[in-house]
Amino acid sequence: MELNENADIDTSQVEDQRGSGGGGGGFGGLPIPIGGGGIVGLIITVVLLVVGGYFGVNQLSGGGGSGDNTNIQQECADKNTAKTKLDCRNVLYINSIQAFWKQAEPQYFGKQYQPAKTVLFSNRVSTGCGAADSGTGPFYCPADDRVYIDLTFYQLLAQQLGAPGEFAQPYVLAHEYGHHIQDLVGTEAKMRRAQQSASSEAEQNLLSVKLELQADCYAGVWANHATETKTSSGQPIFKSITDQDIQQGLDTAKQIGDDTLQQRSGQQINPAEFTHGTSADRQKWFKAGFDSGDPVKACDTFAAGAVKEGD
Ligand SMILES: [Zn+2]
Repeated sequence: MELNENADIDTSQVEDQRGSGGGGGGFGGLPIPIGGGGIVGLIITVVLLVVGGYFGVNQLSGGGGSGDNTNIQQECADKNTAKTKLDCRNVLYINSIQAFWKQAEPQYFGKQYQPAKTVLFSNRVSTGCGAADSGTGPFYCPADDRVYIDLTFYQLLAQQLGAPGEFAQPYVLAHEYGHHIQDLVGTEAKMRRAQQSASSEAEQNLLSVKLELQADCYAGVWANHATETKTSSGQPIFKSITDQDIQQGLDTAKQIGDDTLQQRSGQQINPAEFTHGTSADRQKWFKAGFDSGDPVKACDTFAAGAVKEGD
């Protein structure tokens, strides 16, 4: 993967809350009602089960500090050094993902794309879905339409979960923006309603798996089109994305499959508790999205028989 050195980085798509409101006190273990699995099992890509109204979106602006983009703006404006910096590169990935969906959502879903900011935080953060800490892993909050990430998560991915490849980063972000698309087109709300009328926890979890695998598929769809994406001034964002990058995306999907995470944390593999899908299926759906590039044709994880319990 090579970024275009001439691409401007649009930091207005993120909100830098690092160093604000976190208190620096480490991980406070604030409970988030996600259910199922050990802590490692919750590590990535959760859509918080509590949607809207719980914490109150209105409280948000007063809650976690509104962020200060002065530093990141300056840092990422320097073309000579910006692309060597983790946070600036991540902003550029976000720019690419949103540029893709801005064009693709009307094309495939007949709806206008609404931009969503990513909040960069350290340690802990207040969100429209409640308080969260770094241990939650990156997530999307439908109540305030934002992606939240503590960038130290990538160290955890590399050092503890065996996914050190750089492409893990845009894969994670594209997965979270996949949830934003599900929110915008109504899939997320539909799935929550189905969960409420589900007769068992296993059935609820299976619905969650379908939502998550679809987000993986959407990440693959973005990867298919990533080299076509441009900055607002028309510069290509990527010079190239290689087979090796896609392999790194697949490796990441493998390392964060429910069965692999359960095994890693010393638990029995229990399909009824899967909320994100097995390693095999996470890879399969990412690949399906990548191979096709069409989110409607490739990513219908809710179709009858597309995903079964244990997947
Ligand atoms: Zn997810």
